Amino acid sequence: MFKGSCHCEKVKFELLVTPNHLTECNCSICYRIGAIWAHAAESEILISCVENDLTNYSWGDKSIKFFTCKTCGCTTHWKSVDTEQSARMAVNARMVDRANTKGIKVRQFDGADSFVFLD
Ligand SMILES: [Zn+2]
Repeated sequence: MFKGSCHCEKVKFELLVTPNHLTECNCSICYRIGAIWAHAAESEILISCVENDLTNYSWGDKSIKFFTCKTCGCTTHWKSVDTEQSARMAVNARMVDRANTKGIKVRQFDGADSFVFLD
């Protein structure tokens, strides 16, 4: 199961699909967070928390919000500000038990520069 949580477990998520790859991005924000993203449609991701447990951050064109647990500081997911069901979203696979991400290929995405996968 692709379930994860922040360190203090106030923010939990579940992916209803198994990702066929994970994405490590080198853009200015992903590089700092150290996240490895599992992308899915918003309708395929369940987030479970009290809204007040999260803080969010957006930058640049502000098309994406990054959500972080206020208590333990783990960034658990990001979400497109577009509210359509197909809206882009990703959860941070670093919050998932390592046994459950084993064997899933991690692709390197050059978000800092060319905006394409490097493999
Ligand atoms: Zn937490």
